[in-house]
Amino acid sequence: MAASIIDGKALAADIREDVKRRASALAARGVVPGLAVILVGEDPASVSYVTSKEKACEEAGMRSFERRLPASTPQPELVALVETFNRDPAVHGILVQLPLPDHIDEDAVIAAISPDKDVDGFTPVNVGRMILGQPCFLPCTPHGILKLVERAGVPTKGAHVVVVGRSNIVGKPLANLFVRKELNSTVTVCHTGTRDLAEHTRRADILIACAGRPRLITGDMIRPGACVIDVGVNRVEDLSAAKGYRLVGDVDFQSALPVAGSITPVPGGVGPMTIAMLLSNTVESAERTVRA
Ligand code: NAP
Repeated sequence: MAASIIDGKALAADIREDVKRRASALAARGVVPGLAVILVGEDPASVSYVTSKEKACEEAGMRSFERRLPASTPQPELVALVETFNRDPAVHGILVQLPLPDHIDEDAVIAAISPDKDVDGFTPVNVGRMILGQPCFLPCTPHGILKLVERAGVPTKGAHVVVVGRSNIVGKPLANLFVRKELNSTVTVCHTGTRDLAEHTRRADILIACAGRPRLITGDMIRPGACVIDVGVNRVEDLSAAKGYRLVGDVDFQSALPVAGSITPVPGGVGPMTIAMLLSNTVESAERTVRA
């Protein structure tokens, strides 16, 4: 039997409706949730991510403060802009689109964001709080993945979760979240140093591919009935497509479909959830200012 498709677009739409309702309740109290979005350079994928985040913000009744800077922007100028947003009471969330140009130290820029406005959950303070299980903004993509697994009705307690990828923004936080007591999964993290990747992936009840390698995971690497979450967004050449390329995930969808129990598509799976969780964190940040 073919896997059921986990519809990230539909779940993200539900979350965005809820965000809109909360934003409107805040507006009635004189607070419009505001997200500052900083883009340095003109990387086409980053431009497209930033544009969709700004659009989503406006659709949710939130304010977006957009700053597009040239690729040559000196690091102190960027840090100064972040600090200006840190002080601005109309800004409840700050997002610096990654990657940054090579001459800029990403860690230094991220660390400059106030943890109270770090709606991406990337600052060392929020990462530390997440690992300690303290209240914090959870990073958007991993948080969205938890919601997708929950929506699919896949039990996490006692499940073996295999995460393929160990980046700071996806793989590592995911592994940390799934070992939390309330999720109680057993986690294996794979990376380029892993011997025999398939041996690990075949033992996964929940397999999460976040390697950024097109079609790395094929059907024969999946345990029958497993929940497969495909985080990858990869451009592959396709001369029949208007843009000359199309987007594929890290999972070979066609061979995975007859084997998996449930699976996220690319596009329409994890991607829309990342934006929905960003909006959710921003409205939560604004709510905190009203409660404070
Ligand atoms: P990243 O920083 O490049 O990290 C990739 C990770 O995968 C690394 O840990 C790397 O191992 C591992 N890896 C690469 N090739 C591998 C292989 N053949 N076997 C096993 N492990 C392998 O990427 P990222 O930022 O985490 O993003 C991963 C993918 O998710 C990308 O396609 C990205 O576009 C996508 N993404 C999507 C969303 C969304 O909202 N949908 C959000 C974020 C990212 P090493 O550590 O050993 O190098």
